[in-house]
Amino acid sequence: MELIDYMKASKMLEKYGIKSIRSSYVSSSSEAVRFAGANPIVLKLISDKALHKSKAGLVKVVLSGKKDIEGAFNELEKKGSSLKPYKIIAQDMAKSGIEIIIGGNIDQQFGKMVMVGLGGVYVEVFKDTALRICPIEKIDAEDMVDQLKSKSIITSNGSNSKMIVDLILQVSRFFAESEISELDLNPIIVRKDGYDVVDIRMLK
Ligand code: ADP
Ligand code: MG
Repeated sequence: MELIDYMKASKMLEKYGIKSIRSSYVSSSSEAVRFAGANPIVLKLISDKALHKSKAGLVKVVLSGKKDIEGAFNELEKKGSSLKPYKIIAQDMAKSGIEIIIGGNIDQQFGKMVMVGLGGVYVEVFKDTALRICPIEKIDAEDMVDQLKSKSIITSNGSNSKMIVDLILQVSRFFAESEISELDLNPIIVRKDGYDVVDIRMLK
């Protein structure tokens, strides 16, 4: 299985109405500073040799100002020397919210399946996910959200479940219609006023 380039994956999702946070590869700290403008950003090192970026210290969040950004960039470059080939990506810092995961994979018996659950570090802790066979209808996506034990956590900040239902439908449609064998949007940071996809793992 082949990992699809992050920026390419993000464009593929956009065609289905799924918007990822503003991102760009940067090859120098000054490029990263330019990308940031006056906003706080995130820098990440992406390499096939490090699948869990945060565990390996490859995700630097809330960087603001030239000094912060340069420091983080240099640190990532140092770490990158043993992770070649790699790329450094700059992203806008998402406003705080609750992290969910929406994903897809292929089951030997049932074929393409779509899943939703609480995201970030909680995926492995709570194992609270809802799964359906693709394709799904609106009512299925609604049932998936209702089925989650963490539903009250997910909606506690006023994130509306309707927005999450729409996202599940968009992801399942994309997954069903594309030649992708595995997909993880983890996390999608959800808030009352919207969402940001900040990490995409897509395999062909
Ligand atoms: P990985 O899953 O490989 O460890 P992620 O890109 O998912 O790396 O980042 C890990 C965590 O860092 C996320 O769960 C989220 O809490 C935080 N994070 C990552 N990117 C952003 C972003 N653009 N804005 C805000 N927080 C982010
Ligand atoms: Mg992630």
